[in-house]
Amino acid sequence: MIAQQYSTGGAHFAFTDRWGGVSAAPYDRLNLGGAVGDDPEAVAANRARAAAALGPTAGPVVWMNQVHGADVAVVTGPWPGGEAAAVDGLVTAVPGVVLAVLTADCTPVLLADPVAGVAGAAHAGRPGLAADVVGATLTAMAELGADPARVVARTGPSVCGRCYEVPAALRDEVEALVPGTAATTTWGTPAIDIPAGVRSQLLARGVREVAASDICTLESADHFSYRRERVTGRLAGYVWTGGDRD
Ligand SMILES: [Zn+2]
Repeated sequence: MIAQQYSTGGAHFAFTDRWGGVSAAPYDRLNLGGAVGDDPEAVAANRARAAAALGPTAGPVVWMNQVHGADVAVVTGPWPGGEAAAVDGLVTAVPGVVLAVLTADCTPVLLADPVAGVAGAAHAGRPGLAADVVGATLTAMAELGADPARVVARTGPSVCGRCYEVPAALRDEVEALVPGTAATTTWGTPAIDIPAGVRSQLLARGVREVAASDICTLESADHFSYRRERVTGRLAGYVWTGGDRD
């Protein structure tokens, strides 16, 4: 269910694991992705369960139609007509509106400026990292009044740099765009460290507080991993502002 939750000064962050839902294999059990072949009724039930577990400060949850790009949408509540825009970043300045990002190996990036009451969420896989969806999301947050120096950043469970094997040419291509991402797998082949790249992009933009999950989805039986399972569910990361300044 909600496996990791963190609140500071009226900003709230949460990440799910794969347990506590109603989906059957291979989406067992808390699949939150609506475009992976799972029963839509199960997904809706899982989303309702997870939303209830976020607590009283959380309002409506806004999802994205993620396409591995760098476009960002500003939202004030649920999508008109219910159709999510094809974006990989969401920002809002409305307290209680919960921004959600779906992943199964990609890096979910949650951002919030608790002082401005501005939240952002981004989906950073390899293409999104290279296209700087993280920077685009921070820019959109700044346009709503956020200051990067006040932004609290949390990245969630994702495939780690010791597991994300790629061809050497691809590693070099991404390293040229995002220095610090070149890595090596535990079995000695070229790899990319996406969470490290997200961290460096955030620090370069002036974000000071960046904390990463220590969970590797590919190595954890409690998390969905596209690389391990191919047909599988999706985890969610949630971020919102409002409520008590605890
Ligand atoms: Zn790993």
